Amino acid sequence: MEVKTSLLDNMIGVGDMVLLEPLNEDSFIENLRKRFDHNEIYTYIGSVVISMNPYRSLPIFTPEKVEEYLPGLDEAYRSLRDQDKDQCILITGESGAGKTEASKLVMSYVAAVCGKGQEVNKVKEQLLQSNPVLEAFGNAKTVRNDNSSRFGKYMDIEFDFKGDPLGGVISNYLLEKSRVCKQPRGERNFHIFYQLLSGASGDTLTKLKLDRDFSKYNYLSLDSATVSGLDDAASFRTVRNAMQIVGFMEDEVQSVLELVAAVLKLGNIEFKPESRVNGFDESRVKDKNDLKEMCELLGIEQSVLERAFSYRTVEAKMEKVSTTLNVAQAYYARDALAKNLYSRLFSWLVTRINESIKAQAKTRHKVMGVLDIYGFEIFEDNSFEQFIINYCNEKLQQIFIELTLREEQEEYVREGIEWTNIEYFNNAVICDLIENNQNGILAMLDEECLRPGTVTDDTFLDKLNTICAEHQHFESRLSKNSKFLTDHSLPHSCFRIQHYAGKVLYRVEGFVDKNNDLLYRDLSQAMYKATHSLMRQLFPEGNPAKVNLKRPPTAGFQFKASVGGLMRNLQTKNPNYIRCIKPNDKKASHIFTDSLVCHQVRYLGLMENVRVRRAGYAFRQPYEPCLERYKMLCRQTWPHWRGPARDGVEVLLIDCSVPAEEFAYGRSKIFIRNPRTLFTLEERRRAC
Ligand code: ADP
Ligand code: MG
Repeated sequence: MEVKTSLLDNMIGVGDMVLLEPLNEDSFIENLRKRFDHNEIYTYIGSVVISMNPYRSLPIFTPEKVEEYLPGLDEAYRSLRDQDKDQCILITGESGAGKTEASKLVMSYVAAVCGKGQEVNKVKEQLLQSNPVLEAFGNAKTVRNDNSSRFGKYMDIEFDFKGDPLGGVISNYLLEKSRVCKQPRGERNFHIFYQLLSGASGDTLTKLKLDRDFSKYNYLSLDSATVSGLDDAASFRTVRNAMQIVGFMEDEVQSVLELVAAVLKLGNIEFKPESRVNGFDESRVKDKNDLKEMCELLGIEQSVLERAFSYRTVEAKMEKVSTTLNVAQAYYARDALAKNLYSRLFSWLVTRINESIKAQAKTRHKVMGVLDIYGFEIFEDNSFEQFIINYCNEKLQQIFIELTLREEQEEYVREGIEWTNIEYFNNAVICDLIENNQNGILAMLDEECLRPGTVTDDTFLDKLNTICAEHQHFESRLSKNSKFLTDHSLPHSCFRIQHYAGKVLYRVEGFVDKNNDLLYRDLSQAMYKATHSLMRQLFPEGNPAKVNLKRPPTAGFQFKASVGGLMRNLQTKNPNYIRCIKPNDKKASHIFTDSLVCHQVRYLGLMENVRVRRAGYAFRQPYEPCLERYKMLCRQTWPHWRGPARDGVEVLLIDCSVPAEEFAYGRSKIFIRNPRTLFTLEERRRAC
């Protein structure tokens, strides 16, 4: 919370926005631009770091220099080590803004500042090398970012009493698994597919029954298969090497690659209709070669899998009913299997990495959490994934508001200064609209998914509209704040939410399916029958001995639960923020697009953030350094003040005719209300 006086000496713009005068959106952006033009990519709002993506390497990114350039980080680490405080670093911003790079910087910082020694070095190395593995399987080229993380990641780094890292625990959130089967135009599937095909030896590919040619695979989009600046073959070697360092056995790596190959094979299985006497079409596998190879890879009996693509068994109470699948249903089943297989493989990788990097519980002392999660997404077409991602961002914003204010309040109490309430926009109403257990949108979606009868995306939307309209009628919570926007300009099959970051139009198509996340039991049972042990492990529900007629929890329900857990975890820690901003849409260095930056500044709520920081006392500093800096302004304190520093500061401020309501004396710090007061002192100092 302290403003470092050294920031005032930084002549490129203003290093801390709290001290910006006049403060408005234009001056705020102008200040960012000025600093960006001079390679000053970090600017503060109190202790919050704003980080601009430079889109090129700056010489400052050596670990030794990080400390100098990210003093916030330094402070976080020190208070963890010296004051026994668990810390968390929350990195937010839109896709391509630099979150993942920032989180890696945090990790290399940690690696650079703490102890050496063989054991510690091994831990550091494993923590760092978990990144390339997760990026290969969880990142993809998108329109916005050539290395876009398609999952949320939270990592606890654990430290001992000396402040040396002992290990870590990674949690992953909602991998965007729809990408496995289909990619938006101009985007790719997850990196690993291309890396494997480009980088594996001919021998390995033969064993995996794969062809080097991307165009052979239905699941790989071709319009952007190679990306300039990405060397897939070299990355494959990096990933293999990283897996080894993290502690994967050679046969585990092999198993993982077999499953990656299986996904590609699966995508190539196609279906054709076969007419039945009753007039229905039944699906049949078209060309059986890919099916055969997939079964060989995994040790699955071909007839079992083949049958699972033509029939599904519905079990109810005591009886089993077999119904046929038509071609569309067979494709649906195939894709559901591919998505589940891949996302479960990803979760398994995280678990496996955790096994290697986890610390010995008994020696653990303090924790630093690093959160790198997808930012707000406002596209032209927003679906279930955006809804979930934006919900998560609402929760993060809420915790930001809560913790920022709490931290302010606590400091006031600590320093014995009266707390004045700060007015701010609380987005709790939006979170409630989405997550309320009775009539939140997620609850309504779940209710609809579980309802017997014909359920479609449109029946879900009807329900949403009815309930929200009803609420409007009774002037309830939902309508009073009207974050659920009903107006007549809404396109067909859409609803709109006023998020804190802006209005987002969601298309309901696919909501029910994606929330249900249904995988026919015949398929999970077929997978469980595989001799491939990792495969079996990924489909435990396929075990016939464990038939469970209860439906698995919906995707929305699971996400809500895991986000809830994350929030509870973050609440126990001291937060540090890095707010990432993307300077342009071209992935280019040296370009600063005002409108784009302005948009992000708005939805990250940065102006509001400054306002909160300035609402009480904008500037605070311990008495000693304050006296030291300004003592030349007053004859009684210059050149030496004998007595407590606090008294010296008092004499000094009175002598400089600073009005009494402008400052307050805390236990260890002086609090100054208005930045202008500080500037006046600074000007006088310069004039001396
Ligand atoms: P996000 O995780 O927010 O989507 P990334 O961290 O993946 O964004 O950054 C996108 C790209 O921008 C990176 O691949 C890199 O090229 C560039 N970039 C981001 N941060 C930096 C940085 N600090 N220095 C240099 N380049 C960066
Ligand atoms: Mg990222």
